[in-house]
Amino acid sequence: MKTAIATVSIAGDLSEKLAAIAAAGFDGVEIFENDFLAHDGSPRDVGRMVRDFGLEISLFQPFRDFEGMPEPQRSKAFDRAERKFDLMGELGADLVLVCSNVSPASLGGIDRAAQDFRELGERAARHGIRVGYEALAWGRHVNDHRDAWEIVRRADHANVGLIVDSFHTLARKIDPDTIRSIPGDKIFFVQLADAPKIDMDLLYWSRHFRNMPGEGDLDVYGFMRAVAATGYNGTLSLEIFNDQFRGGSPKFISVDGHRSLVYLMDRVRRSEPDIRIDCPEMPDRIAVDGVEFVEFAADEEEAREIGGLLHMLGFTRALRHVSKDVDLWRQGNINIVINTERDGFAHASHVVHGMNVCDIGLKVEDAVATVERAKALNAEPFDQPVGPGELKIPAIRGLGGGLIHFIDEHSELGRVWDIEFRPVSDQQAASSVGLTRIDHVAQTMNYEEMLTSLLFYTSIFKTAKTPMVDVVDPAGLVRSQAIENEAGTLRITLNGAENRRTLAGHFIAERFGSAVQHLAFATDDIFITAAALAGNGFTPLEISANYYDDLAARFDLEQAFVDRLQAASILYDRDEQGEYFQLYSPGFGEGFFFEIVERRGGYGGYGAANAQFRIAAQKRRMRPKGMPRS
Ligand code: MG
Ligand code: MG
Repeated sequence: MKTAIATVSIAGDLSEKLAAIAAAGFDGVEIFENDFLAHDGSPRDVGRMVRDFGLEISLFQPFRDFEGMPEPQRSKAFDRAERKFDLMGELGADLVLVCSNVSPASLGGIDRAAQDFRELGERAARHGIRVGYEALAWGRHVNDHRDAWEIVRRADHANVGLIVDSFHTLARKIDPDTIRSIPGDKIFFVQLADAPKIDMDLLYWSRHFRNMPGEGDLDVYGFMRAVAATGYNGTLSLEIFNDQFRGGSPKFISVDGHRSLVYLMDRVRRSEPDIRIDCPEMPDRIAVDGVEFVEFAADEEEAREIGGLLHMLGFTRALRHVSKDVDLWRQGNINIVINTERDGFAHASHVVHGMNVCDIGLKVEDAVATVERAKALNAEPFDQPVGPGELKIPAIRGLGGGLIHFIDEHSELGRVWDIEFRPVSDQQAASSVGLTRIDHVAQTMNYEEMLTSLLFYTSIFKTAKTPMVDVVDPAGLVRSQAIENEAGTLRITLNGAENRRTLAGHFIAERFGSAVQHLAFATDDIFITAAALAGNGFTPLEISANYYDDLAARFDLEQAFVDRLQAASILYDRDEQGEYFQLYSPGFGEGFFFEIVERRGGYGGYGAANAQFRIAAQKRRMRPKGMPRS
């Protein structure tokens, strides 16, 4: 199947848009008439420009308020159509989208509309043009693809076909399976868009909130399965009206779009093995078993600072790289790598971002297959020369400038610590505080980047997204959403900041980009851990007394229990499944911190209700250093 995107979906002038669209791997574009109103070139120039980028014009649109008009508007509509056909000839476009009439003057009536389309088909045929009819969800008489199909069927003209658009069908809650009975060769074009579930006026929702398939809440997958079942094997095109995308980076939005289409085709192909769907071959979504390591880029002084903190948190500096300034700190199944090398990726990352998490290692079933899938989905593979005795570990560039490496069990990669590292000779064993594994990795980003992250993780890995929750920072909202695998062994939280005065926003601004802002370690007993931490001289982030007063009332807790929580600065939350306990390290660097959590029962969240108290406590500590007062 060919892929296309409407130029209105992204920002930039026409040549910027086309460059980004071509680079992302699309085959074609939908051209809107507005594209040349703003562009100072003739339709012929625009057509040439599109083709010079190696793209085709898949569709020209829109042609409005055509069918069912009384005279004299009817004749005028045909005259307008003739002019569009001429323009399309110059442009080099052979398919036009006619959307259902919204004019109060239009008369309705299936046969009247069919008659108009038959005549339009005749005229279009003389220009070598095909006409596709789309039911707008807010069309005056026709707002359902089933009615549009009936009109196309009765028009009975080879140059007249149907255009289906997932938004118009799904927004009106029309069962997409009704598409299955339409012959695939009469579907001339398929437009795809998702959207978050918001209850609002259909037109406004459509023009401002559409997003890429997989980013929203509509069943675009079910829609696409139905389309595939008709035998349609033409172009799949993104028609995304979204204020954020129109203000975003043309390059990244185009990549997201292409990724969303390829991922969707791959899903449909797997679910409909009997149907031929031409799309890139790739391994299925990759199961992740957890985080194998997290690597910090640091200079020597920062390395001493994190090392000191890790030591108090019960980590032992256990291994050192055979040839590099790279240490491994370990506790339970947690591996923290600290890289102070003066060249290589970690160093480059440190130069740009200062101390930061520059690399995450994920445990997967097959590392090579993971990179193969990621590449098919527009991710960038990463390579750097390996030294003697080092393994070549498959990797990709993650979002926000970091790397993701993949470790599997059935190659030597599973023994990377034995092969590349040696035990540290002057090891000072720390007294473990009972941390077992990484519970979650929390990434902070600008709010606009959240959909990108979401699609990135869910398309490559067998993961699902949780609903978005609001975290209240005194200086503004931070949206939070998690990506999880089914077993809960991989949890990545995405925190999207809307302004720089929030703690999350401050972190992004100081670090020059999105990154891991905290790591949460799991323990089986937070009270034992807290006592052991105190024994190691660790002082957790102190939470205000008001929090504990409120907690006792909110959850109807025994005072003795609340006192225990308060004495250890432990935060508490509860859902239908279980309980959650959290404690935090003080922040360091530009706002990085560690968290320790215990999940009891099947608690599934991340303590969102507690975040505002944690943020307030962190801001109190940071204020002397110039953190803005909110
Ligand atoms: Mg449309
Ligand atoms: Mg957390």
